[in-house]
Amino acid sequence: MPFSYSQLSVYRTCPTQYEFARIKKIPRQISAGESFGSSVHNTLSKWGKIEVERGKRKEDKDQLTLFMDDPEESSLSLTSDTLSLLWHQSFIVQGYENKKDADRAREKGEAMMHKFFEWWGQKDREVAAIEKGFSIEIDVNTIKGRFDRVEQSEDSVQVIDYKTGSIRSQKEVDEDLQLSIYALASEELFGKPCTELLLLFLHEDGIHEVRTRRSKEQLEKAKKEINVLSEGIDEGVFTATPSESACGRCPYRSICEFSVV
Ligand code: SF4
Repeated sequence: MPFSYSQLSVYRTCPTQYEFARIKKIPRQISAGESFGSSVHNTLSKWGKIEVERGKRKEDKDQLTLFMDDPEESSLSLTSDTLSLLWHQSFIVQGYENKKDADRAREKGEAMMHKFFEWWGQKDREVAAIEKGFSIEIDVNTIKGRFDRVEQSEDSVQVIDYKTGSIRSQKEVDEDLQLSIYALASEELFGKPCTELLLLFLHEDGIHEVRTRRSKEQLEKAKKEINVLSEGIDEGVFTATPSESACGRCPYRSICEFSVV
């Protein structure tokens, strides 16, 4: 059975939450945090696609300079103003309690985009993929996912994942299952070892990087964990694992008899 990382992640957080969402299919409201995260991802996806397009145009231009004096340029250039425009075009208003909260989030996002632009401009970047979906086989399971951004050099790739939540510790990032899945998928997709996994925490006061890698042993451990989680789902084991952090962020806490918040 195919699973997405987000399904496995919900099951890992609390099997009862998975049951509400995927088995009982109980509708839920999008939260302000989820809405904001989607707005940021959509903006940076559009930005990345312009990067890819302009890189392609440059290649075409290099090949066609003998024949074309002035090849058509993209109407959007890679400037801070463009990024700001993309942010406002991509902003999702759902999820906020009122207009004031939505306006505050919009302002916060704009400040964040300025910080992202500064980070992005620190070096030349070769984009290998933006918002690229993947599907990999792990034993009897198919795991589906999507890379936010992959940069490459001659012999390696760097997977970059955008985050808008609180900054995680190095230990948490070193043990993050999503990043292990990315490491497995990137080698398969790009045919080069994944030399670095980078979580990019976007905040209005700055961009914070947390880097990690995966050894062969860690990847084997991740595969075993994926198998345990998928077996639990297949066997219908949906025992609640309440905790303040899980229930505090759970969209079903108002209807869950096991909630501790
Ligand atoms: S409220 Fe807590 S125990 Fe209930 S489903 Fe959500 S995370 Fe699980």
